[in-house]
Amino acid sequence: MRVLVTGCAGFIGYHLTERLLRDGHQVVGLDNLSSGSRENIRDLLALPGFGFCEHDITRELPVRGPFDLICNLACPASPVDFARIPLEILEVCSTGLRRVAELARDCGATLLHASTSEVYGDPQEHPQRETYWGHVNPIGPRSCYDEGKRFAEAFLVAFRHRYGLKVRIARIFNTYGPRMRADDGRMLPTFITQALLGQDLTVHGDGRQTRSLCYVSDLVEGLLRLAESEVDEPVNLGNPDEISVLEVAQEVIRLTGSRSAIRFVPRPPDDPSVRRPDITRAREKLGWAPRIGREEGFLRTIGYFRRRLTL
Ligand code: NAD
Repeated sequence: MRVLVTGCAGFIGYHLTERLLRDGHQVVGLDNLSSGSRENIRDLLALPGFGFCEHDITRELPVRGPFDLICNLACPASPVDFARIPLEILEVCSTGLRRVAELARDCGATLLHASTSEVYGDPQEHPQRETYWGHVNPIGPRSCYDEGKRFAEAFLVAFRHRYGLKVRIARIFNTYGPRMRADDGRMLPTFITQALLGQDLTVHGDGRQTRSLCYVSDLVEGLLRLAESEVDEPVNLGNPDEISVLEVAQEVIRLTGSRSAIRFVPRPPDDPSVRRPDITRAREKLGWAPRIGREEGFLRTIGYFRRRLTL
């Protein structure tokens, strides 16, 4: 296959592109490097079949088809970016997505889009099924991202109705693994870095809010199965293994062998209090379920951050 991956310099984009190349596909990557890393691009360029173009997808796209598959991952996704570049996030979810969808339509490609569990907001249904419409603050500090992603889903459904585009929507839940950025404000890299540096682990609120964490290679497998499937509806991809934020901090301290303490800090507004995917649809329609257990995934990720800190 010839595949276009937007956001290929980012955390998930890197792993998806690497897997596609390893499976023998040709991949063109687009990324403006706003939250992605040059190191990821350097490592991808070392593999056969990869070409890269530094480009902002909200501007006219510099590539034409043919592509068999377009994976649209470009979007800043970390809480620090919500305050730093909210207008850019809204723009990439709207103008950027429109440009990518038009390219997919014009070259007859399937469009796999990275949506998010944030479309459920601070959910009142638990666990979250794809049929749940969500509970989102449209004007809060996270709304550029949550509403941007909700708009993107609405756009894709309308675009498919008008043009018959093959659209696959992955609602991705918290994913983790090597190549996350230590400073991007997401829970696990923050805890691991703090533990390895012997600093206090900063737990928001009382830490009883829950998360469900999926190791990145499991997510990539789910994304590829979805891309190949005939499933038109959005599909949750995540690990239903639910854990409280406080327990994550305790696990990280145990697995790193750190002497760090836990410090409780105020919880950000609109922080979801529970998060767990119902993955029945993915199980039944894609035959997919996560395989990497929490301890194994945490240890692999800790190993990555340990190597980086000692470089
Ligand atoms: P990331 O920030 O590491 O990667 C996003 C990439 O998109 C970066 O390389 C960034 O430079 C690029 N980008 C941003 N705006 C762009 C633009 N206008 N033009 C071109 N490139 C642009 O984030 P990630 O965690 O890898 O997330 C990838 C996708 O998956 C995002 O769409 C995100 O919303 C979605 N997602 C991620 C998670 C998660 O847990 N990591 C959860 C749900 C959804």
